[in-house]
Amino acid sequence: MSSSNSLITKPRRLEALRKAVRNIRKHKTLKAIGKDNFGCCSSCAIGALDTMMVDGNKHGAVFWHAQDEEQIQVDHVHIRVCVRRGRRLQPFMTQVAAYLRTSVHPMSRIEWNGDPRQCITVHL
Ligand SMILES: [Zn+2]
Repeated sequence: MSSSNSLITKPRRLEALRKAVRNIRKHKTLKAIGKDNFGCCSSCAIGALDTMMVDGNKHGAVFWHAQDEEQIQVDHVHIRVCVRRGRRLQPFMTQVAAYLRTSVHPMSRIEWNGDPRQCITVHL
């Protein structure tokens, strides 16, 4: 676990979120990979995902990176959704948001306005 977690006041909710993101790969229809605290910034994370997804059957990735992890200290995190070619972003993100709503801690709140250019925000 990262040392940057020291200020987190809701560790159970964060752990539930980490588990949900990591377990997204087991989802039957999403065909996504999930990474928490992945890469230092969005550019590095997306670059690394490109390499990881070249050989796989995965359509998309759900992640937050180290800069997002700092936001956890103020009780929310922006979940990035990265989609590969051949898959429309909006329906994918809708499915991801629905998955998160049923998979995170019951007290956590998922916020997303349906705009695929906006990240999904999880309020722990
Ligand atoms: Zn970076």
